[in-house]
Amino acid sequence: MAAEVSTDPVDIQVDTEARELRIRWEDAHQSAYPFDLLRKACPCAVCREERRTADKSPFRLLSGQPLKPGEAQVLAHRPVGRYALWFKWNDGHETGIYSFDMLREICPCDLCRQGIWGKNE
Ligand SMILES: [Zn+2]
Ligand SMILES: [Zn+2]
Repeated sequence: MAAEVSTDPVDIQVDTEARELRIRWEDAHQSAYPFDLLRKACPCAVCREERRTADKSPFRLLSGQPLKPGEAQVLAHRPVGRYALWFKWNDGHETGIYSFDMLREICPCDLCRQGIWGKNE
């Protein structure tokens, strides 16, 4: 990862109508995260364990009602210190803390997915 990629947000918008989190970073990069993607990427221990065992056991217990694509909605959100965001989802889940490091890492834009952003001076 190139050193000039910033994990400091300068602007954060939680758009519950577009169902999208938008972050502008200090290096001027803009990220847009559909809520469906964010909910699926929840970094809490329960969800990580669910994802880890998802293929292995057909009898796994879900931590909440599984949401179909297009259903994930943010009911509440707030910053956690200066390093992360907290979300409460409409399936009742609210233990995920999304660090800015992780959010920058999972930016779904083409440049980031292809590893192009930050490679050029
Ligand atoms: Zn979770
Ligand atoms: Zn990006």
